[in-house]
Amino acid sequence: MKWTRRQLLKTVSFSALVAGIAPRVAFAAPNSLRSIRTGLQTGGKTRLVVETSSRPSYTLSYGDKQLIVNLSNTTGKSDVQTKLASGTLIKRVTQIQDGTKLQIVATLSGLIDAIEKNQIMVLEPNGDNDYRLVIDFPEGTGRGISVSTAATTTTTAKMAKTEAPAKSAANTTKSRIIVIDAGHGGKDPGCIGKGGTQEKTVVLSVAKKLKKKLDANGYKTYLTRSTDVYLKLGERAEFAEKKHADLFISLHANANPSRDMKGFSIYTLSEKASDEEAQKLADSENAADKIDVDGFEQFSKDIRVALSSLQQRAVAELSEEYANGCAKSMNKASIEQQKGPSVRHAPFAVLRSTVPGALIELGHLSNKSEEKLLKSDAHQNKLVDAIAKSVHSYDFDV
Ligand SMILES: [Zn+2]
Repeated sequence: MKWTRRQLLKTVSFSALVAGIAPRVAFAAPNSLRSIRTGLQTGGKTRLVVETSSRPSYTLSYGDKQLIVNLSNTTGKSDVQTKLASGTLIKRVTQIQDGTKLQIVATLSGLIDAIEKNQIMVLEPNGDNDYRLVIDFPEGTGRGISVSTAATTTTTAKMAKTEAPAKSAANTTKSRIIVIDAGHGGKDPGCIGKGGTQEKTVVLSVAKKLKKKLDANGYKTYLTRSTDVYLKLGERAEFAEKKHADLFISLHANANPSRDMKGFSIYTLSEKASDEEAQKLADSENAADKIDVDGFEQFSKDIRVALSSLQQRAVAELSEEYANGCAKSMNKASIEQQKGPSVRHAPFAVLRSTVPGALIELGHLSNKSEEKLLKSDAHQNKLVDAIAKSVHSYDFDV
């Protein structure tokens, strides 16, 4: 493969960018507690989020109806407001400072089991958030837990209590950064409907409407392109990285040899496609880069290597959450869904980044009635409303 100078430069700068967010082994300066919050996850799991100023070094221990997060080299903060969501297993959260060690003691309304490693994530800073230790757990039977590790024996002399105030006025939309990507553009028209409608035109129109709507709702949004220009997939992903986006939404429209096929579908990144059709779609969307020069394949592989598996999992999980919510929102708006699962997975190059997100195929241009719909302002507005709602209901606070 030949590399142009520009590609090489870009690869270097991107590697540096990725290195900057890659996990470091911490000999860090003392860490400090920023916030504590809880949430209810799909399936009724409780989520505990502990935000700290630098990467947390932690262990978990368990008491009688207690989950204890031990943070080494960390200073607590007595005025930290714990935001407790309703319906979770966590009734109360207390901080205990023991020398340089900080214990976060969550008092539970029920028993839990030892928490699996894959239910614990450390997320990198983004938007207004610092590092977040995220722990998900369901109600359990208390099995596998030795109560003797409880923190309750710790001296209470240095105890700083943070009783949970009720939900504070949520600053849900404050400065959340959304990057909206209108697929294709310029010399790459994307797919073309029987009536001549080009994918690049439809998705740009929807992207602009979506930006307007989200801006009006207090989000900070950026378009990867606002005119009819060609952008490589890697440039789109890199754009989202550079804007430190909280969410990336790539808009597309479909074509299928079967003219009867219609409906929207939503995709998240996975190296293994969830089905053959999803793989085919990823191949055709990824082919956008073939229009220019090869090179992105190598480029994207570098990014994947530099990302820790933990980060990949965290990004995948958040993307999945968003995609599921978006599908629900589209269903609620009675927008026709393509047969089969509403959310699928495939190796889309444009989704290869550290920013959670999804690729939305808004509908099929190859279907005569849907081509007509996709061109119409009314239907575009309907799509925009549904997507905007999915952004509202996405839990950025994780
Ligand atoms: Zn497309």
